[in-house]
Amino acid sequence: MHLGANLIQWLGVGIVALMGLQAVALFVSTAPRLASQRRQQRIAEEILEEQLRTARARRVIREGTSQSWNGWRKFRVERKVLECSDVVSIYLTPHDRKRLPAFEPGQFLTFQLRIPGIAQPVVRCYSLSDAPAEDCYRISVKRVPAAKADLKPGVVSNYFHDQLQEGDIVDVKAPAGAFYLDLANRTPIVLIAGGIGITPVLSMVNALARDGPIPRETWFFLGARSGEENFAREHLRKLAARHENLKVHFCYSAPSAQEKQGVDFDHACRVSTELFKKLLPSNNYEYYLCGPPAFMESLTSGLREWGVPDSCVHFEAFGPASVPAKPAAAGAPAPGAGQPAEAATSHRVTFARSGKELRWGGGVGNLLELAEKNGVNLPSGCRSGNCGTCLTAVRSGKVEYNKPPSCQPEAGSCLTCIGVPAGELVLDA
Ligand SMILES: Cc1cc2nc3c(=O)[nH]c(=O)nc-3n(C[C@H](O)[C@H](O)[C@H](O)COP(=O)(O)OP(=O)(O)OC[C@H]3O[C@@H](n4cnc5c(N)ncnc54)[C@H](O)[C@@H]3O)c2cc1C
Repeated sequence: MHLGANLIQWLGVGIVALMGLQAVALFVSTAPRLASQRRQQRIAEEILEEQLRTARARRVIREGTSQSWNGWRKFRVERKVLECSDVVSIYLTPHDRKRLPAFEPGQFLTFQLRIPGIAQPVVRCYSLSDAPAEDCYRISVKRVPAAKADLKPGVVSNYFHDQLQEGDIVDVKAPAGAFYLDLANRTPIVLIAGGIGITPVLSMVNALARDGPIPRETWFFLGARSGEENFAREHLRKLAARHENLKVHFCYSAPSAQEKQGVDFDHACRVSTELFKKLLPSNNYEYYLCGPPAFMESLTSGLREWGVPDSCVHFEAFGPASVPAKPAAAGAPAPGAGQPAEAATSHRVTFARSGKELRWGGGVGNLLELAEKNGVNLPSGCRSGNCGTCLTAVRSGKVEYNKPPSCQPEAGSCLTCIGVPAGELVLDA
C-alpha cells in the first residue's frame, strides 16, 4: 500500500518534470522564431510609418499648393510674443477664416504694409519660423537699428515691434521661395543659421520633429554673439534631447561672462567649415544655410573648398544676394541666370518713362541701385529677387541675374533688384 502510494507520487513528479522539459524544449525551439517574427513585425511597422510620413508630407505639399492664393490676402495678427530683447514672433490667422494652406519649411511670406507717415505701401519678406500648422502662420522679426547715425532705423521691423497690435490686419502674399526642405527625402542634412537667419531652418527642424522621431541624420549649427541672441535655445536643447538623430551645436563668438561652455553653449567661435571638419564624419550632407552676408560668404566658399558640390548647398539671403556666384570656367558659354555679366563691361540703360539715359558699369550694382542713385523712382521690396515688387517691363534688350530669381519674372519683364543689363537696355520705367 505504502509502496504503491510512493510509486504514484514518483510517477506524478516524473510526469510534471516531463511536461516542464517539454515546455522548455518548446520555448527553446520557438523563441528564435518568435523573436524573428517580432523583428519582422517591427520592420513592417517602421516601413508603414515611413510610408505614412512620406504620404503625409506629400499631402501637405499638395494641399499647400492647391489651397494657395494669388495676390494679397488679409491676415489677422492673432498674437505677438517677445522672444528676446530684439526678436518678436507674430502669429497670423486668415481674416476670411477659410483654410490655411500648408507651406514647405523654409519658405517665406511677403507683406505689404501701410505705415503711418509713409506715402507708399512698404513690401518686405519674412520667413515662416515654425512647422506648417493647420491654424496659423508664425514669423519672427528682428529689430533692425539704423545703419548709420544719419539714417533711420529699419522701417518695417520697428513697425512690427512697436506699432503693430494684436487684432490688426495685414496684407500677405502666399508662402513662396525655393529654399525649403523636402520632407519626403531621407538624405542626411546640416542646418546652419547665423543670427536671425535661424527662422527658415527652425521651421525645417520643427517640421522634421513634428510627426515623431526625426527620421534622418540632422545637424543644427547656430552662430550668435551670445545666448542673448539665441531665442530658440531651450526649444532646440529639448528637441535634441528627445531626438536621437538630431545634434545641436551653439557657437557663440562673444559669450557673456555668466555663460559656460559645455552648458550654455558648445563652441566659443564662429560657425565655420573647420568646425564641420572636426565634428561631421564626412562632407557628404545636404547643407541649408541662412545668415548675414559675411557668414554666408565664408561658409559657402568654405564648403566649396571642402569639396561639397554646389548642388548640395542651399541658401537664403535676407537682403541683397550675398553669395558670390561660382566663377565661370574659361571658355564657358555666355552668362545666364546665376552668372552675372563681367563687372568691367559698361552698357547704356534707358529709363524710358523717366526720360533718363544712364551708363551701367563696374561697381554700380543692379538696375535698382542704378535707378536709385540717379533719382529714378522704382518700386522695390525684398531687394533679393524674392517678392516680385520691382518687376519692370523691358522695352528692348536683355537682363541677367546675379542669382536665380525665386520669383520668376513674366516674359518681357525683369526684376531690377537682382538684374544687370546684358547689353543696351530700355526699361519701361
Ligand atoms: C526671403 C527673406 C526672408 C526674410 N526673413 C526674415 C526673418 O525671418 N526675420 C527677419 O527679421 N528678417 C527677415 N528678412 C529681412 C526683412 O525682409 C527686412 O529686410 C528686415 O526686417 C529689414 O527691414 P526694415 O524695413 O526694418 O529695414 P529697412 O528700412 O529696409 O532698413 C534696413 C537698414 O538699412 C538702413 N538704410 C536705410 N536707408 C538707407 C540708405 N539710403 N543707405 C544705406 N542704408 C540705409 C537702415 O538704417 C537699416 O539699418 C527676410 C528677407 C528676405 C528677403
